[in-house]
Amino acid sequence: MEKSDRGIVVILEEYCKGCACCTVACPEGLLRIGERINLYGYTPSVFQDEEGRCRACALCARFCPDAAVEVYRLGVPKTQGQKAEKE
Ligand code: SF4
Ligand code: SF4
Repeated sequence: MEKSDRGIVVILEEYCKGCACCTVACPEGLLRIGERINLYGYTPSVFQDEEGRCRACALCARFCPDAAVEVYRLGVPKTQGQKAEKE
């Protein structure tokens, strides 16, 4: 069955150096540098996606030099997702 192309991104805050590469890489503009300061004095990036626009393309993870980005593809079959939207 065909899977949804929606995704969720988790930033591993203690690995992030706040370089902002992921914020530039995301074609949907879903990442920004946050305000929280981590243990090492850096400001980690933040994933924000209220409208469900993340397509799980993983460009953000590929651009991160510190392996601080994890991308998860939502395991919702497209047919079920479409059905849920109609109800
Ligand atoms: S997986 Fe793609 S769409 Fe989602 S936050 Fe990363 S770069 Fe943006
Ligand atoms: S690219 Fe990686 S290290 Fe740089 S801000 Fe994004 S998550 Fe942090």
